[in-house]
Amino acid sequence: MKHVDPYRDPALCRELAQAIAKLCRRPVRFMELCGTHTMAIARHGLASLLPPTLEFVSGPGCPVCVTSAGQIDQAVALAGLDGVSVATFGDMLRVPGGQGSLAQARSRGGDVRVVYSAMDAVDLAQAMPGRRVAFLGIGFETTAPTTAAAILRAQALGLDNFSVLCLHKLMPPALAALLDGPDLGLDGFLCPGHVSTVIGAAPYQIAAERGLACVICGFEPVDILAGALMLLRQLDEGRPRVEIQYARAVEAQGNPRARAVMNQVFAAVDAPWRGLGWIAASGLAARPEFASFDAAKVFGLDLSEPPEPPGCLCGQVLRGLARPPQCALFGRACTPESPVGPCMVSSEGACAAWRSYRRED
Ligand code: SF4
Ligand code: SF4
Repeated sequence: MKHVDPYRDPALCRELAQAIAKLCRRPVRFMELCGTHTMAIARHGLASLLPPTLEFVSGPGCPVCVTSAGQIDQAVALAGLDGVSVATFGDMLRVPGGQGSLAQARSRGGDVRVVYSAMDAVDLAQAMPGRRVAFLGIGFETTAPTTAAAILRAQALGLDNFSVLCLHKLMPPALAALLDGPDLGLDGFLCPGHVSTVIGAAPYQIAAERGLACVICGFEPVDILAGALMLLRQLDEGRPRVEIQYARAVEAQGNPRARAVMNQVFAAVDAPWRGLGWIAASGLAARPEFASFDAAKVFGLDLSEPPEPPGCLCGQVLRGLARPPQCALFGRACTPESPVGPCMVSSEGACAAWRSYRRED
């Protein structure tokens, strides 16, 4: 059987790596804004194909990693309430907050269930009229429209036992916060493929206007190497702009229908990001007409942010200021089996990617 995935073709990868090496005549630093890019670069060993002058650093691109400890505490508090079932994606179970994780809440008797979509959580609420189901809405603009659609469906079904703890985050405000923060010494961004299917290319323009190259990139080795080459060409031409490498999935205008559903149900609110602090208008909350689906309001949850665990460098890792092995806890007190910080929990987290594929100890 002969099946050659064109996006994993080793010969094409080598060709791209050679072109990159030729063009990369000075040290450059690109940040990947997506956890899946972080994971793909590590999994495919792409760093070994790149010249030492080209460095990729991870940014705040994994929705699990950037969920704040206080938000995890809210979820844990929900799981401790009588008659409440928390429905969550599996990768949230072990993320530590100040009051432990959802997995620990479950071992204390909390009803925490893993679902694969927001609609599954609606089905769960429909199947259990005697319980109240709270779904943890997590992810960037990729998943927020599906959570909004789930709320609309619950409304259409007349369900009064379904709500969402909305932990969704918006990518453009985080990008703006990075650009307005301390100089990260970056030359460009590898922009997220999935998020961009919804938001399109325009939101990255603010980075290009500040002289940073931007390429919206796919997730296979050929995509990432082609994206790196496009970034280098922009720098070489002295014309930073926003380009789309991942044209098979991303259109410049994004997906206006998905944005419309998201904006129908949610409005932007200030939100806490793990490692980045509070960022204006970077989270989502149900609009007043959907308040009965807002778990934070329905259950009167408070948000207070506990301090980061002592020694944890997640905040710096998420801003590209530290590499995972620079954290004294990396691979010692903090491992995928026993994570101290969120970057070690999510499979898209920078520390987990380093630990799994680079075998740094
Ligand atoms: S949701 Fe998609 S775009 Fe966002 S971090 Fe995950 S893979 Fe990347
Ligand atoms: S090794 Fe653990 S504690 Fe250190 S930065 Fe990574 S996730 Fe945080």
